[in-house]
Amino acid sequence: MHPAAIDVAPESRARQRLEPDLGARPRQAARISCVVPCFNEAANLRELLPQLTDFLRQRFSAWEIVLVDDGSTDDTGALLEEWSHLPQVHALQFSRNFGKEAALSAGLEAAEGDAVVLLDADLQHPPELIDEMVRRWRAGADVVYALREHRQDEGRIKRLGTKVFYSLINAGERVKLPADAGDFRLMDRRVVDALLALPERNRFMKGLYAWVGFHAESVPYTPAPRPNGTSKFNARRLLRMSIDGLTGFTTLPLRAVSLLGLVMAILAFVYGAFLVASYFLYGHNVSGWTTIVVCLLLFSGVQLVSVGVLGAYVARIFEEVKGRPLYVLKRRIGQRYKDQMR
Ligand code: UDP
Ligand code: MG
Repeated sequence: MHPAAIDVAPESRARQRLEPDLGARPRQAARISCVVPCFNEAANLRELLPQLTDFLRQRFSAWEIVLVDDGSTDDTGALLEEWSHLPQVHALQFSRNFGKEAALSAGLEAAEGDAVVLLDADLQHPPELIDEMVRRWRAGADVVYALREHRQDEGRIKRLGTKVFYSLINAGERVKLPADAGDFRLMDRRVVDALLALPERNRFMKGLYAWVGFHAESVPYTPAPRPNGTSKFNARRLLRMSIDGLTGFTTLPLRAVSLLGLVMAILAFVYGAFLVASYFLYGHNVSGWTTIVVCLLLFSGVQLVSVGVLGAYVARIFEEVKGRPLYVLKRRIGQRYKDQMR
């Protein structure tokens, strides 16, 4: 359970995680966990679950699948219940839709494997790639992430937005986010523990992965088209997520606003000096209505934008201090590995 989650919040556990087990462990006979966030994915899960369980069964002696139902309103819940009869599968059900980042956090909390793979439920992330990820992990990588080879399946506006977002978030910051990497990745237990130890509620996962560091390698892939349903991330959600990312990982907008203010002030000073000089040279001059109106509009616009930028940061501070849990669990389905051992 994430330290911020509602049903258990033993602080000692969270503190323990701040010093993860740093010893090297054998990666050959390891347990592999797959975490799958699902929001109204019944149609896709019907295909994915047989595929994924077959795949894991053939390759690994110890594996588990953690399914997180993020408040689905279709048959996803019933399907998860059915699949949870398998001893290796268990599911968490949220009380409502809390978002993919919360679902991933819950899944990471529940996963017990030595390596954890995050995988979308919509068949866009081919399970076959897990083979290569595990191979790289066994060879020593701590994180293996899938890197999209191209974004030709996306619209031009979305691609432009992505480009602007990554250039802003990566501008001058120490932590660099790879632009074409998503949540499809394998992480070593130490990386997972480091992620779980982060106390913040703003779970912009792509930023958090980069922040925790560790040795990361990428494997190229081309996401398959979504067979059923449409992407849950519309323009509004994407914009919201980018603001979460920017406020959580860079102070560039704040610095840009200060710089803009400074430039404006210098220009205003120069113009003021020019007016004074022209008064002494040409005498009293009452014209300048246009100048006044234009300046007024310009400066009030700039001020409102600055207040907005500041407000975005203040809103995030408010979210953090409220300290609400990341998600509320309705129920757990199936047994965890640990519970079966008792
Ligand atoms: N998802 C979720 N909660 C949400 C939105 C999405 O758990 O609020 C899951 C969704 O079921 C899928 C994954 O996150 O397994 C990726 O979602 P989607 O395919 O809509 O996003 P995209 O592929 O466009 O990034
Ligand atoms: Mg998808």
